[in-house]
Amino acid sequence: MTYTDKSQNADAHTPSAFAIPAYIREILDRFDRAGYEAWCVGGCVRDALRGTSPHDWDLCTNALPEQTLALFSDKPCLTVGIRHGTVTVMWEKQPVEITTYRCEGAYIGHRTPSSVTFTPSLREDCLRRDFTVNAMAYHPSRGLSDFFGGADDLRARLLRCVGDARERFDEDALRMMRALRFSSVLDFDIEPETAAAIHAYAPLLNEISGERISSEFRRMLTGVRAAQLLCTYADVIAVFYPPLAGCSGQLRVLNDAFAICHTAETRLAAAFRLCGCTNADDVRMILHFLPLDRAFSDAVTALVRDAALPPPVTRTDMRHALSRTAYGYLPEQLQLHAALFPDDRDACDASLTLYRAVTESGDTVKLSQLAVNGRDLAACGFHGPAIGKTLHQLLCAVMDDRVANTADALLTYAKTLSTQRSDDSGE
Ligand code: ATP
Ligand code: MG
Repeated sequence: MTYTDKSQNADAHTPSAFAIPAYIREILDRFDRAGYEAWCVGGCVRDALRGTSPHDWDLCTNALPEQTLALFSDKPCLTVGIRHGTVTVMWEKQPVEITTYRCEGAYIGHRTPSSVTFTPSLREDCLRRDFTVNAMAYHPSRGLSDFFGGADDLRARLLRCVGDARERFDEDALRMMRALRFSSVLDFDIEPETAAAIHAYAPLLNEISGERISSEFRRMLTGVRAAQLLCTYADVIAVFYPPLAGCSGQLRVLNDAFAICHTAETRLAAAFRLCGCTNADDVRMILHFLPLDRAFSDAVTALVRDAALPPPVTRTDMRHALSRTAYGYLPEQLQLHAALFPDDRDACDASLTLYRAVTESGDTVKLSQLAVNGRDLAACGFHGPAIGKTLHQLLCAVMDDRVANTADALLTYAKTLSTQRSDDSGE
């Protein structure tokens, strides 16, 4: 293996080679044959060295974007990122991002480089990358190129900025959230200077787009270190979710809760409740400050609202619970309840078993499952709001096993309801 700079110190713990998919080798070979230099770079090198399989393979090259396009003129290429040096080659329907070595000008708004300049230097390209473990390049015959000690940090499970951490976060504040996300997902420590810079520069998060923060934050929440990070970086998270400042000092309870709650939705709902935020309207308002997709914030809000509801015990209770909540979400509610109310854990387990039984046997829990609909009721003389009200009464009767879910039984029962209503109104 060929090493450069600090990488020459890399010891035998670093695998000397790792498997690269055949199509990536073919692309690298094509660059080599044409006299260019190209490398696998970034997350794929990090993940392959960790022994996990990368979800995509990014390449970098000294070829200019137009030269890359010419080299792959026999393949469909996407050029949306070409101004930043990226050409996406569609190799047998597999998109591969190939980016010309580049360096970045001064940053605007703590997020965007004012200019991008192409460079013939791999080192310069790696210098602009965020963390040492993300700044390594690999080629099957030239080996690992590791200018900043990424392999050592990978072995030590450390996340360290390339260069001065404060400068790097001042340039691009999103990197702070990326640090928290990688630390949580990879189970890496954040190196002390990088950590100190995150605490110091956290207010800069106010200046960058909520979408970008929330996407990193959600990934952070599902990582193995989520509880530890919420606790240690409560001051940072509080920049966008102020009540979560209360996570500080709550490591044990957060850890216990997250051992049961695994999704981003349930973990965030648990964190809010553990910080004393139990009012769903407050939570909706807080979530509003950081754009999350609608389904996510609806789920978190509903989970916070319903977290204290007792777990359904009987089949009938379960049907009613399912008719009130969306399908698929009740198990998360039960997980959250178990996490927050340890005395109810056995009851939650039993309720989860009941949930599976009820959903697997397809019990009626929704209006659309009824054997009659509004048109059937209208044909029997119902009209106006009475139709909706009667349908709900029919659903309740079916869920309570008082009436069979057949058209005859339901229409007969509906007529008794309408008679009762006429009697009650004195008609
Ligand atoms: P994953 O794809 O698993 O999220 P990744 O490391 O591939 O991890 P990407 O966001 O796909 O992350 O970015 C690819 C590479 O680009 C990174 O490994 C890093 O070298 C560089 N990079 C991405 N975002 C930044 C940034 N904000 N600042 C500096 N370098 C970055
Ligand atoms: Mg990636």
